[in-house]
Amino acid sequence: MVAQQDKTGAIFDIKKFAIHDGPGIRTTVFLTGCPMDCWWCHNPEGRGEAPTDPTAKTRRVTVAHVMEEIEKDRVFYDQSGGGATFSGGEPMAQPEFLVALLKECRRRQIATAVDTCGYAPPGDFDKVADLVDLFLYDLKIMDDERHRTYTGVSNGPVLENLKLLARSGRRIQLRIPLIPGITDTEDNLESILSFLDDLPAVRRVSLLPYNRFGEDKRKRYKLPVRLERVRNQSETEIEAAAERFKSHGFDVKIGG
Ligand code: SF4
Repeated sequence: MVAQQDKTGAIFDIKKFAIHDGPGIRTTVFLTGCPMDCWWCHNPEGRGEAPTDPTAKTRRVTVAHVMEEIEKDRVFYDQSGGGATFSGGEPMAQPEFLVALLKECRRRQIATAVDTCGYAPPGDFDKVADLVDLFLYDLKIMDDERHRTYTGVSNGPVLENLKLLARSGRRIQLRIPLIPGITDTEDNLESILSFLDDLPAVRRVSLLPYNRFGEDKRKRYKLPVRLERVRNQSETEIEAAAERFKSHGFDVKIGG
């Protein structure tokens, strides 16, 4: 059996001093691979692991290597209430590697967050749930057909896993990307709110305004650009979305 420290996984980046990926100062580790294919994805380089994939910039690393990087900034986590965040891509796409990383963090008393799109087998969430201090959980589109169109997969597992985590008392911060005309419509935001009415334990939400960063990146990688004519939201539109959530008792943050 491979020792926990020697387990390997694919990552495409490690970001130091991250301040938008959970509380305090954090080190964010980006794991490669994602089951979704969102039209607005900012990290197309993190979606493919195959070396033939033009978006791949991935490298295989051991748990020990990642922990060495995380440990370097321990003093800042202690001072700021930060820790390590596992993001992607989709960290749940490599469940064994993620579990090994989370166990190491727990053993070393480093707080953890997992930034997830929620699309994974429920059994995998069971494996990680006890090891995670905070879930940064993305919610995108409530209408299943539209979810399939814009992300490539059904939202069924996303909604079911969110219910399971919320009802078992996990700490969750929702993240809703505001994509003009796609996720930020009145219909969609109202559907999200009515879904969350049944989950009163989830009352923290980050609204992530759209920016063209993803499209510029896709052009650089010579990938098809799918949101060519989308404009950024105005301050007023972002504020209106925030007010909508505040009026339902949510603690709202704009941005990560
Ligand atoms: S879930 Fe996140 S990483 Fe995956 S395709 Fe969508 S935006 Fe990109």
